[in-house]
Amino acid sequence: MTSSKDIRPGATLGIVGGGQLGRMIALAAANYGLKVHIFAPDDDSTAFDVSAQRTVAAYDDVAALARFAASVDVVTYEFENIPAAAAEALAAKAPLHPNAAALATTQDRLTEKTFINGLGIETAPFRAVDSVADLTEALAAIGRPAVLKTRRFGYDGKGQRMIRADGPLDPAAILAEFAGAPCILEGFVPFAHEVSVVAARGADGAFAAYDPCANEHRDHILAVTRVPAPGIAAQTEAAAIGIARRIAEALDYVGVLAVEMFLVEQADGPARVVVNEIAPRVHNSGHWTIEGATTSQFAQHVRAVCGWPLGDPARVGGMAVEMHNLIGDESGDWAAILAQAGAYLHLYGKGEARPGRKMGHVTRLLPVA
Ligand code: AMP
Repeated sequence: MTSSKDIRPGATLGIVGGGQLGRMIALAAANYGLKVHIFAPDDDSTAFDVSAQRTVAAYDDVAALARFAASVDVVTYEFENIPAAAAEALAAKAPLHPNAAALATTQDRLTEKTFINGLGIETAPFRAVDSVADLTEALAAIGRPAVLKTRRFGYDGKGQRMIRADGPLDPAAILAEFAGAPCILEGFVPFAHEVSVVAARGADGAFAAYDPCANEHRDHILAVTRVPAPGIAAQTEAAAIGIARRIAEALDYVGVLAVEMFLVEQADGPARVVVNEIAPRVHNSGHWTIEGATTSQFAQHVRAVCGWPLGDPARVGGMAVEMHNLIGDESGDWAAILAQAGAYLHLYGKGEARPGRKMGHVTRLLPVA
């Protein structure tokens, strides 16, 4: 097993996961003269298009994971739902960044929120829900509106359901929709803005945060990211970055992470920062950094996991940046976007433009308003 400090251009980075995040990490790695080996279960994974080596196997195929890790110099991942046994199998054969404990903490909403509150950082109020009695008690304690979520495997609004303040309440029927999955009930946070802090921590403990960005969702899927976040006070931005730093340090994190936060306006004083979730990986709300920042989140992640110095996260020329996701058939507009001056088009090379599928994104640099 090689230690991270030995990694030089020419080494091989292993990436678990073959989606667009893995693809963009691989492209950044190539820019530093690294080779990439992707491990993914689907043989048409989009990251395979840009990688020298591939392993097609399931995430619970421990023997395949061990062979893969033994063939690379360092391993990272582009999504957080790797089973704990898989993370152990990887870490036994190669340095794994971010570490397995960061994965375990963040892949379960109950563990994650308990960890965040343990740092003295606010989340929505929450209760574990494993039965109808738990849900009834949790609703009595937290009140409505509230959001019921599966503890694991949720993304883009999947595995969650609003429980409205008005109307009839049938806890048994609500819980039946979750088919026995362990759940968590969260109080609804009356937020004015959703922001995220994308940041990196290096192997030497160095920390570099991008400017917090404002995220707009449509149908629970990220639609637009804007930076600087419009209407957010400098004091609130500094508090948000400080929270991301405490989280990264407490996890002994190495790599890029994203912390999604709600901002709740206060009648007197600065907005409250309430953490929603931590993504232990590069993040869709950081795609603007490819053209908008001196060091992209993908290049930054590669630097961190290789044990190299972090790069400058500053916005290029102090410009404002907007990133629009191309969801489903929006990617059909690619030719028109190519014709626009100043539009940076990224297509992920996915086959079918199904509704809700992230097919690409477009970034524009604008003068600060
Ligand atoms: P999540 O899967 O936890 O990222 O939730 C997806 C989206 O649902 C968030 O970006 C929010 O827009 C909304 N949401 C989730 N949890 C809450 C909450 N406790 N209060 C208010 N809105 C929420």
